Amino acid sequence: MKITNEKVVVCGAGGFIGGHLVEFLHGSGVNVTRAVDVKPFDQWYQKSRDVENLSLDLRDKNNCLTAVDGMQVVFQLAADMGGMGFIENNKALCMLSVLTNTHMLMAARDCGVERFFYSSSACVYNGEKQRDAQVIPLREEDAYPALPEDGYGWEKLFSERMCRHFEEDFGLQTRVARYHNVYGPLGTYGGGREKAPAAICRKVIEAKTSGRREIEIWGDGNQTRSFMYIDDCLKGTVAILESEICEPINLGSNELVTINQLVDIVEDIAGVGLERRYKLNAPKGVNGRNSDNTKIKQYLGWEPSIRLRDGLEKTYAWIETQMVMAAVK
Ligand code: NAD
Repeated sequence: MKITNEKVVVCGAGGFIGGHLVEFLHGSGVNVTRAVDVKPFDQWYQKSRDVENLSLDLRDKNNCLTAVDGMQVVFQLAADMGGMGFIENNKALCMLSVLTNTHMLMAARDCGVERFFYSSSACVYNGEKQRDAQVIPLREEDAYPALPEDGYGWEKLFSERMCRHFEEDFGLQTRVARYHNVYGPLGTYGGGREKAPAAICRKVIEAKTSGRREIEIWGDGNQTRSFMYIDDCLKGTVAILESEICEPINLGSNELVTINQLVDIVEDIAGVGLERRYKLNAPKGVNGRNSDNTKIKQYLGWEPSIRLRDGLEKTYAWIETQMVMAAVK
């Protein structure tokens, strides 16, 4: 399938990835008809004037029917989520996204949607396989036997399986990407839901502006992760939606860094050196996580094209501008 003239709805469009996805699809000549998010419009990170924007709570099935009515392609990115600080302390809220995913799938089936994309997460992977910071990159089969991240990861794994069974039992064509840490401008950088790259940029900017030359790091800083820049994520998302890959597939960078190395890069961008204070009892997630991209490269020729340093420069610049603007208000 190649989407061009199909009617497309993006759910979670007021959020980080969803907002970029609407713009990216428009830029690629795709007819995005509708954009939906539970947030009031003034809280959307991006809002395109060329689409029908709806503020709807997609936990409610009637709202899902409104969202997908007349649509051929659905991108389902709406979820109650955040970084480790949020998901470790809000497991029930994270699991309640199962209402959104269930009702979105039912509505898509009932309205005869042709293709349904679901944004899953690397949090579905078995925790036992992520104990060592020098982790072996996670292959798709490493999600089983199931031992995902408590709360958020279980919900994602369950919803992945619902996608599979809606395809098998009802013929709804579903496509599932397992996103590994996505970052970039126009996303959350404060308030408790932010993820490591944005949080570190914000903390470095705060230290630089306040003159207090120190930074708090969650854990011992030796935990490893990979981070995918938003542009790579968008290209991969559309490629997966258009593909014939019915099984969940990794979409992530494989440039592994420790959190300390992530801080090194951001300090270098900012031109500062900070004293590090390690908060060992803070939520820090698994010790190591990396994406094995063998399948996506083989099937779709996709591989990350933006180096972490380059993506962080853009992200840092955007967050710095936001913080300067907020300070003068
Ligand atoms: P985000 O929080 O910026 O966007 C999610 C959006 O969903 C938010 O704007 C939120 O208001 C909306 N939403 C939540 N509940 C809703 C509801 N009941 N009805 C309608 N809208 C609702 O997060 P994001 O980073 O853009 O993530 C998008 C998707 O990708 C999510 O499903 C997330 O779980 C998944 N994901 C993201 C990452 C990442 O690193 N950003 C990693 C793995 C998976």
